[in-house]
Amino acid sequence: MRRPLIVVGLPASYKSKVAQRLSEESGRRLAIADMTTLQKEWSSGDAPVIEVSSEVWLDRALRVEAMDRCVVIAVGSSGCRDTHPLGDGSLEARLWRAAAGAFEEAHCVVHVEEGTVEEAAREALLVWQRDPIVVAAGERSYRVEVGHGIVDSRLSGLLVGSAVNLVVTDSNVERLYGARFEEALLASGSCLVKVVFEAGEQQKHLQTLTRIYEAAQLGGIDRSSKVVAIGGGVVTDVAGFAAATWMRGLRWFGISTTLLGMVDASVGGKTAVDFGEGKNAVGAFWQPSAVVCDTELLRTESERNFKGALAEVVKTALIGDRELFELLESEGPAIVHRDPALLADVVRRCVSVKARIVGADETEKGIRATLNLGHTVGHALEAVGGYGRLSHGEAVSLGLVAALRIGVRLGCTPREILERTVRLQVALGLPVALDPGDLWAASALLSHDKKRTGKSIQFIVAEDVGLVTQRMVLVEDLRAMLLTIAG
Ligand code: NAD
Repeated sequence: MRRPLIVVGLPASYKSKVAQRLSEESGRRLAIADMTTLQKEWSSGDAPVIEVSSEVWLDRALRVEAMDRCVVIAVGSSGCRDTHPLGDGSLEARLWRAAAGAFEEAHCVVHVEEGTVEEAAREALLVWQRDPIVVAAGERSYRVEVGHGIVDSRLSGLLVGSAVNLVVTDSNVERLYGARFEEALLASGSCLVKVVFEAGEQQKHLQTLTRIYEAAQLGGIDRSSKVVAIGGGVVTDVAGFAAATWMRGLRWFGISTTLLGMVDASVGGKTAVDFGEGKNAVGAFWQPSAVVCDTELLRTESERNFKGALAEVVKTALIGDRELFELLESEGPAIVHRDPALLADVVRRCVSVKARIVGADETEKGIRATLNLGHTVGHALEAVGGYGRLSHGEAVSLGLVAALRIGVRLGCTPREILERTVRLQVALGLPVALDPGDLWAASALLSHDKKRTGKSIQFIVAEDVGLVTQRMVLVEDLRAMLLTIAG
């Protein structure tokens, strides 16, 4: 177990017994921490079991940081499950609810009664060993598991308890993995309704949704059913939106099969289809219930798609992980050759950055906008190429170069950061040459950018590796700068 384990819960919830048991089972030191000692304990280096008092857990900023540094088990007594429609359930249930989802923001929630401490500790230990990342979204919090060779075992437990479920995938993923995954999913004994649509961004539209709804209706998919999206970003976007809208919302699981899907699309709950000229024009924020990223599946991804996604990885490192940036610099060739262990580390780090940001701003009212670094110009360049000439990743790579050059012009980005990033992009095989004709065409599209307010546009600049900020820049100024940064 890499990270420390925090055990939190209401008073009299058996959390001390669970913590004690976990310490015995794992052979790790048991510590008891309050607001002033928690950080010291999780930084101690010996990854202990830390029992934490409930009031500490009500501080959201500390909670989000703790979930990044540690694995967290929330312990409730069975009384917490009481959800009386009039809200006058047990004291435990009312306290649990009064904490407004605080206790649901954990890697694992266990409900314990006298005699079930061991069972709860066993469940918690398994989660600690698997070391997932949690996206903190109150009662809609969920785990993202990253690893190599983990997908079959996770699929086999996914559908326990629901009779009929909907699986959505695309033609390529079906050809490569369909039979294998179906066998794993059927192990739980439930029935599957499967929709396989033609692979590709062109399928990310309302007609595909209609096909999914028709299959759902015919197959008896109801509120108790789950949706399993198996594929890249197109599948998770479409299936996630189908899950958000069918019968006003079903639980869904993302099984990511592309690098872009793993590091970006499957985490954060943005679901959508394209409409007319508008990319992701019809959509919803609808968080999945869990996400699995198995880097073994990346072996079969096409070279172009895989490489393109590395642009999002560089972006993520720039936004929030200096060590990831350095890892990319030192291990670039091994990453390009898809070394599985390294890839798992890279994906895990990217997911952690995104989870931290989404946890702080689920619906993009503030800091989440920083994830758009490189996307303002990138999206425009992608549109200039008719969404075909450049892949999304290639467009983001060029958009990053543009954002860094503009940052230098604005006096926000040190030139050394620009040069270092471009060197890294070249080493990873990403495009960096900005064509003047494309920039000219892209500049005309800036006024359609979703981040525009009046005459200004919210532009993300990198001040350092791991430090990005938002600036309001006049669209006219941005256009003018775009015309001068080719090369
Ligand atoms: P994709 O889903 O179209 O996958 C790319 C290609 O790879 C497809 O042909 C697919 O069939 C194939 N494929 C998938 N897994 C494979 C595997 N393991 N082996 C071999 N082939 C495989 O595209 P993508 O790059 O994964 O994602 C792009 C989409 O993601 C875009 O629509 C974009 O808007 C969306 N996206 C969404 C978010 C979000 O937050 N929701 C973030 C980033 C991107």
